[in-house]
Amino acid sequence: MSEFQNTLAFAQEKDQKDPLRKYRDEFFFPDFAGDNMVYFTGNSLGLQPKRTKEYIQQELDDWAKWGVEGHFHAKNPWFSYHEILTEQASKIVGAKPKEVVITHSLTTNLHLLMVSFYRPEGKRIKILCEGKAFPSDQYALESQVKFHGLSTDETIVEIFPREGEHTIREEDIYSKIDELGDELALVMIGGVNYYTGQLFDMKAITEAGHNVGATVGFDLAHAAGNVELKLHEWGVDFAAWCTYKYLNSSPGGVSGMFVHERHANNPKLPRFAGWWGHDKDVRFKMEPGFKPMEGAEGWQLSNAPVLGMAAHKASLDIFDEVGMNDISLKRNDLTAYLEFVINDISAKSEKANFEIITPKDPNKRGAQLSILAHGQGKDLFDAMSDAGVVADWREPNVIRIAPAPLYNSYEDVFHFGRILKAAIQ
Ligand SMILES: *Cc1c(COP(=O)(O)O)cnc(C)c1O
Repeated sequence: MSEFQNTLAFAQEKDQKDPLRKYRDEFFFPDFAGDNMVYFTGNSLGLQPKRTKEYIQQELDDWAKWGVEGHFHAKNPWFSYHEILTEQASKIVGAKPKEVVITHSLTTNLHLLMVSFYRPEGKRIKILCEGKAFPSDQYALESQVKFHGLSTDETIVEIFPREGEHTIREEDIYSKIDELGDELALVMIGGVNYYTGQLFDMKAITEAGHNVGATVGFDLAHAAGNVELKLHEWGVDFAAWCTYKYLNSSPGGVSGMFVHERHANNPKLPRFAGWWGHDKDVRFKMEPGFKPMEGAEGWQLSNAPVLGMAAHKASLDIFDEVGMNDISLKRNDLTAYLEFVINDISAKSEKANFEIITPKDPNKRGAQLSILAHGQGKDLFDAMSDAGVVADWREPNVIRIAPAPLYNSYEDVFHFGRILKAAIQ
């Protein structure tokens, strides 16, 4: 017997007892007929924290007041602005501060990291990635191998779910890694799959990759701010993530980069360099000869895009206040409630069969559920949008939803279910 009930009263009672309840009011919700939208796309673009405006305004004011002198005289000097993000960001991914830097955008960072960590040599040229990876990652991998004069056919190995299944079996990843052995140069996988919401065992994948002598990196676009990460402890070589999904840090906002400590002091790693990665004590001597900073900062190219970073700081302050532990507790319960409500509606409907393709095990998923809407088409989704739900539709019939624990409520989940039920065609 489930402890959950698909009723408004039950959802409201859960909200009353929710320790994170007050954070909902920290965010702006898009309006629907005078009420909040049911916003379940925090996995695509997180909502705007109300405090973000203030953080950006501070930098606009300092720019007005100081002009270029703001690099040193602003309240948060722009010369070192990224440094005020590092410690909080490193807690989110479970890293030491020197292993993390906030800079550039996600795909840019993936490329910069692969320039250093994908180094095909002899027969060790292959990359293992998940089948149907996010398109930007596919293009990045494809162009990286071509950059080395190789073809995708001889290098890129994709791993898919088995016939008739929706998620990838981890045992299949490990056996593929072993099979590729000394031909495997790099494992590059999304820590949480963007399509199915499957969370991978990054520690075990890292170990398996290292056992055959490969480097291991993760795209954490759908993992950062969503699930607990321990990149340092797991021994991951590198990782990158965007901050505009679960981390609510503005559209197209800045990205994060992780480089494990063991690579931090290795100036021999090939890399594409820029002045911001150069030893900061002598950066303004403007002398030739690149001397990388220690740690992840040594991968920076350009001076900090301060407005985007101010938005990230606003959000990091909220995450720091709450902590990933409490976020995870609510995430598991809220996601389980959403799962219960969807299954309840599916079981009682004669016309629709909603199959949740995301793993049932809370340790194998984050906040996202992907619903395969058997017997239903885009009309179902359109009807839900018309009734105030913001979700994501993927052809032919998958609805992706993610209740964000910081701002979504149990009542949101109840209303989602109510609208889903009414939209069945
Ligand atoms: C969202 C997302 C991206 C987006 O890349 P940008 O460079 O920020 O546009 C890339 N990869 C994955 C896996 C994503 O989920």
